[in-house]
Amino acid sequence: METYKNIIDMHNHTDNSFDGNHSTVYMCEAACNKGLRAIAFTDHCEVDAFDAEGERNVRQAFFEIAKAKSAFMGKLLVLNGIELGQPAYDIETAEKILASQKFDIVIGSVHNLRKREDFYYIEDFSKIDIKATMNEYFDEILTMLEWGNFDILAHLTYPFRYLFSRNNILVDINEYKSKVDEILKLTAEKDIALEINAAGLRQPINRFSPEPETVARFKELGGKMVSVGSDAHFAQHIAVGIKDAMAVVKTAGFDCVTLFQKRQPVEIPIE
Ligand SMILES: [Zn+2]
Ligand SMILES: [Zn+2]
Repeated sequence: METYKNIIDMHNHTDNSFDGNHSTVYMCEAACNKGLRAIAFTDHCEVDAFDAEGERNVRQAFFEIAKAKSAFMGKLLVLNGIELGQPAYDIETAEKILASQKFDIVIGSVHNLRKREDFYYIEDFSKIDIKATMNEYFDEILTMLEWGNFDILAHLTYPFRYLFSRNNILVDINEYKSKVDEILKLTAEKDIALEINAAGLRQPINRFSPEPETVARFKELGGKMVSVGSDAHFAQHIAVGIKDAMAVVKTAGFDCVTLFQKRQPVEIPIE
């Protein structure tokens, strides 16, 4: 088996996510077997659809990660995170969720536009105005950054995956250059880490989100912290693509990747 010494993976889902498959302990055992240094569990919490069940899920996930943290102490650093979807659509609820537990890591994501479905569920983009939709999507990322109470900006080009897999449309990020530059600048200013998400490598698009050129641009625009995550929803996907993601980070001019403990950044040198 491939080993992942000195590898950290800051974005993973357990069966406390609606689309997760494996228990926290099973995921930790897999991470240990692979030789990881640290793993963060960041189960989904879609703020714009938050209800009593969502509240129970957050509590359950936090509890199970806390148990794993102590069970694997000395073998694997386990970080207690959450992936907040669409926090800016209901800031009051987002703040309430964040105040409910002492998280290590908070990931900020936009999976859907307001009152619309997750891009993942859109079967056909041919009748959708792509340009307007992408502009709206990047505007929502900006709005989320203006709020800014999170540590990692997740999968910046999330909709690109589905435009490609559903309709074979490959979006060129350069068409949104000024907006993306604004996003990267604000991410840097707010001391938020830009995530290199490796899930796209397991999908037809076969690319990082965002792509290496965007990571390099982030550095040019004053970006200080980057995070790497497999976005694994199965134990076998933990850390897959992370070595290559670290190489992208290094090529972009960063010496470290960042993890967060109690929401404070810790730099991990790239060897
Ligand atoms: Zn996500
Ligand atoms: Zn995720």
